[in-house]
Amino acid sequence: MLADTHVHSQFSSDSQTPAGSQADRAVSLDMPLLCITDHQDFDFPPQYEHSFTFDTDRYFDDMLRLKSAYSGRIPIRIGVELGLMPHLKERLEDYTESYPFDYVIGSVHIVRDMDPYYSNFYEGRTETEAYREYFQCVYDNLKVHSCFDALGHLDYVVRYGPHKNQNYSYEQYRDLIDPILELLIQKQIALECNTAGLKYGLGTIHPLPTILTRYRQLGGELITLGSDAHKPEHLGYGFAEAAKIIKACGFTEYAVFEKRRPVFYPL
Ligand SMILES: [Zn+2]
Ligand SMILES: [Zn+2]
Repeated sequence: MLADTHVHSQFSSDSQTPAGSQADRAVSLDMPLLCITDHQDFDFPPQYEHSFTFDTDRYFDDMLRLKSAYSGRIPIRIGVELGLMPHLKERLEDYTESYPFDYVIGSVHIVRDMDPYYSNFYEGRTETEAYREYFQCVYDNLKVHSCFDALGHLDYVVRYGPHKNQNYSYEQYRDLIDPILELLIQKQIALECNTAGLKYGLGTIHPLPTILTRYRQLGGELITLGSDAHKPEHLGYGFAEAAKIIKACGFTEYAVFEKRRPVFYPL
C-alpha cells in the first residue's frame, strides 16, 4: 500500500474521525506512512456558516502525542490543507513559518466568495464558464502564493458541477491548465493526485490523466498522493487503481514531505 498524504480528522469541521482511527486504519492497510492534513481555511465566506479552521497549538499537541503513540508502528507526518485566496498571502506565509509542518497542501475551495461545492456557483451561466472561472482562480492564487508544497485536487470543481465531469476534458481548458502546470514546475510545487474523484464516482482521479501526462511532458516530476479521506474507510481509497493510472502517465515515484522537503517513494 502507498502512503496517504491527504487525510482529515476531527480537527476539520467536516470530519468526526479521531486522528487515531485514521492511524489504526493506516496500520491495518500496511501503509509506510500517514500524513494528516486538516482544513485551515481562513476567511471562509460567512454565508456558509462553517468555520473550517482549527486551533493550531492544540493540533500540534494532539499530533505530536499521536506520533509518539504510533512510533514503531507507522510514521506520522503533520500536515495541513490551506484554503488559498489571493488576499491571504501574508497571513498564510506567517502561518506556515510559525509552525513546524511537514507538509502543506494549497487548495482552492473558494472562488469569488463562493464554494463550488454549492449550486449557487453555477447559477446563471454555463458549466464551462464556471469551470473556466475556477481554473483561472487556481492560476491567480498560484501566481500570488508560494508557501505550500503541493497543489490539492487541481480540478476540484468537476466533482460538483451540474454534469460533473461528463463533458469535461483537458483539451477544453488547455489555455488555462497549461499555465498552471508551468507555474507549478517553475515554483517547484508538487501536483497532487487525489483519489477522491474515484470516490465521487468520476471514474478517475484528480487531476485527469491527460493533465498528468501533460505535466510530465512539460517536465513536471513532483507528484504527491492522497485520498482526501474524512472517514477511516476512505483511507487509501483507490490507491491500486491510482498507481496504475499515474504510472501510465509516465511517473515511477511520488513524493512524501518531511519537514517541508520531498522524499521519494516508488509507485
Ligand atoms: Zn480540499
Ligand atoms: Zn481535503
